Amino acid sequence: MAAENLAVSRETFDNVILPVYAPAQFVPVKGKGSRVWDQQGKEYIDFSGGIAVTALGHCHPALVETLKSQGETLWHTSNVFTNEPALRLASKLIAATFAERVFFGNSGAEANEAAFKLARYYACKKHSPFKSKIIAFHNAFHGRTLFTVSVGGQPKYSDGFGPKPADIVHVPFNDLAAVKAVIDDHTCAIVVEPIQGEGGVMPATQEFMQGLRELCDQHNALLVLDEVQSGMGRSGKLFAYEHYGIKPDIITTAKALGGGFPVSAMLTTHEIASVMAPGVHGTTYGGNPLACAIAETALDIINTPEVLNGVDARREQFVSALQKINEQFDIFSEIRGKGLLLGAVLNAQHASKARDILNASAAEGLMVLTAGSDVIRFVPSLVIEPTDIAEGMARFARAIAKVLN
Ligand SMILES: *Cc1c(COP(=O)(O)O)cnc(C)c1O
Repeated sequence: MAAENLAVSRETFDNVILPVYAPAQFVPVKGKGSRVWDQQGKEYIDFSGGIAVTALGHCHPALVETLKSQGETLWHTSNVFTNEPALRLASKLIAATFAERVFFGNSGAEANEAAFKLARYYACKKHSPFKSKIIAFHNAFHGRTLFTVSVGGQPKYSDGFGPKPADIVHVPFNDLAAVKAVIDDHTCAIVVEPIQGEGGVMPATQEFMQGLRELCDQHNALLVLDEVQSGMGRSGKLFAYEHYGIKPDIITTAKALGGGFPVSAMLTTHEIASVMAPGVHGTTYGGNPLACAIAETALDIINTPEVLNGVDARREQFVSALQKINEQFDIFSEIRGKGLLLGAVLNAQHASKARDILNASAAEGLMVLTAGSDVIRFVPSLVIEPTDIAEGMARFARAIAKVLN
């Protein structure tokens, strides 16, 4: 029978979905630009962007056009055959970055899994099988496979699943001395988010990123940047590493890469890629023509001065609106992040109210995110209309007033 004959609602979730999420009480059914509507027809402004994914808003006409035209042409070939959209997307990513070789996956975790395996494999082939230590950071997030939760290092995500991959060390973020204390010639990689996303919207400092590059060079280790959240224009540059004037060895990108269609990529150099051979790693869907065609269109639009320069102007509108709210309510200690990866940090008096504010915002018709219990996170479309920012911030102010009263 046709799917529309079966009535579903938020309650259905509790009966049919594995209980690993706690979704909002409403069910979105339609989106256009930065507006979303739920089953009851209530309208929301979207500052959450599907968790930094819908960088061109919902149902962008160019993405819809590509979805339709590629959808009528060729969806899938597997990795037994290559395809034109994947070859074009890889070529364009290479032209736009430090990279010379691309591996496609379907999610951020898969891109990171490929990156971590490549870093270990490269060290094993070029140096020694004992060069396997990975240095990562407190509050990091790299995905949900067993290797990526282990590199992420947060017990709440990695405990209870049996033995973890070994030889991974965690030290405080933005603390170069802590890295110096643990790095040695058995280190194969340092893995870092240039801007920690889930961990509280925390940018790496210039000294830190530069220092990590130098330490990697001294110890023949690879600098692996997880740009799953910070990449694809989110920071105001195509990739956040460009802000730091450093050249990474591997970067990963996902979330906004397909503008809402699942696709991810790991980018590296020819020299590092050259240790790989057919069969060493792979995935059935990776480089799927439908996903790659959509990502190519998203990249063509995002990687333009109009969109990238527009990020900072929109950031300013967000920051000044948040400062006005703060003058009225004295609720934030800091507004941080880069570009349109924004974190409003609740001050000590209002700590741990992030979830309440998120719920109150939804009631006012606004979708926001949290990053931990003390940070409200905004990751809207990179092309959100200024009028939508203004209206969304008016709703946000009403939500905060309700929470504080
Ligand atoms: C979201 C995220 C991931 C995981 O991506 P998935 O697509 O959920 O697997 C990895 N790293 C960072 C920095 C992220 O923000």
